[in-house]
Amino acid sequence: MMISEKMIKLAQNNSAIRAMFEEGKRLAALYGRENVFDFSLGNPNFPAPQALKTALLDILNGEDSVYVHGYMSNAGYESVRSAVADALNKKHGTAFTLDNIIMSVGAAGALNVVLKTLLSPGDEVIVLKPYFVDYGNYVANYDGVLVPVLTDPATFQPDAEKIAAAVTPKTKVLLLNSPNNPTGVIYTEESIRKVAAVLEARQKEYGTSIFIVSDEPYRELAYDGCEVPYLTKYYRNTIVCYSWSKSLSLPGERIGYLAIPSECDDYKLVFDGAGIATRICGFINAPSLMQLAVARCLGETTDITPYDENRKLLYKGLTDCGFTCVFPQGAFYMWMKTPVDDKEFMNAAKKHNILVVPGASFGCAGYVRIAYCTAKSTIARALPAFKKLAQEYGLC
Ligand code: PLP
Repeated sequence: MMISEKMIKLAQNNSAIRAMFEEGKRLAALYGRENVFDFSLGNPNFPAPQALKTALLDILNGEDSVYVHGYMSNAGYESVRSAVADALNKKHGTAFTLDNIIMSVGAAGALNVVLKTLLSPGDEVIVLKPYFVDYGNYVANYDGVLVPVLTDPATFQPDAEKIAAAVTPKTKVLLLNSPNNPTGVIYTEESIRKVAAVLEARQKEYGTSIFIVSDEPYRELAYDGCEVPYLTKYYRNTIVCYSWSKSLSLPGERIGYLAIPSECDDYKLVFDGAGIATRICGFINAPSLMQLAVARCLGETTDITPYDENRKLLYKGLTDCGFTCVFPQGAFYMWMKTPVDDKEFMNAAKKHNILVVPGASFGCAGYVRIAYCTAKSTIARALPAFKKLAQEYGLC
């Protein structure tokens, strides 16, 4: 086989989520789309706000097309970066300028750029279990070492003591994600303060820099008025990876940004490194038309009411038939305990045309993730199938 050994391994471990997505397409062809309950992928089922369409049309009709479709600085259009910085300052009381913002190819692009910038081979990246399945691939891209650390099993909040025990002189990054995929949990201010204190202490002890990389594609998806703490306020060496994939329902358009505060250690090196990393990763720059469009929609977010309705309907339906779930505070995922091994449960669910992702894919066996960013009718039609599944295991 003439491909790299690393890629052979990665291809073999190809995300179970994607595999499930393909399975969804296969089942839909066999049984009809309406008879397949596909909860496998975090692909928003709701349209982008009208303001985005208006912005796109205005830009295409009104601006010089050479400018709109051209290359620009690797970090992105200066006007867009300034607009993003201003919006963040207004919302979070930060003091960003365009020199703290690098436009990115979604959160995935931002994460790759930041890891490429920060990691030397063998550097350790702590992730909190359960964690987004692709973190392992991203860290491996830059020869980093993934160090999974369990969250509190009752609340899925970060466990500061376990993190303290996992930090070594080689720790470069703590990568965290709140609102969380897959649990729907929002990390509290108290949790963040404890984690920040641990990292501050370890930085001092080892004389190293440890960065929190905050992966935030779900920041705007918080229910019941729940606050999502802005991490740069709690910890100086924080880098934020933001994305509009979910907040504007634009996952295929690939647009986000990195916020690198001036207070970070070696800020100038990190910022310049991330600009070059954007280029070397082959992105060159974030998509130009999308940069200009999101800059005109900074006050907009997708309406989260349908997600909220789905959340309540699914939680009630599942718990009524005896399943145990985390009631999500954010994002659009339900994290459900499985009465048997999670892969066995996934296969049993498939027999009812229900597609879910096993917890093992997130480093946490014994659970499945159910993505409820679907039509509400899909959930309503799936609940009787979930009930039959619950009956098979004697839960109701
Ligand atoms: N991080 C997490 C936790 C995610 O759930 C996702 C996508 O589902 C990403 C990153 C990638 O997001 P993007 O589409 O913005 O690259």
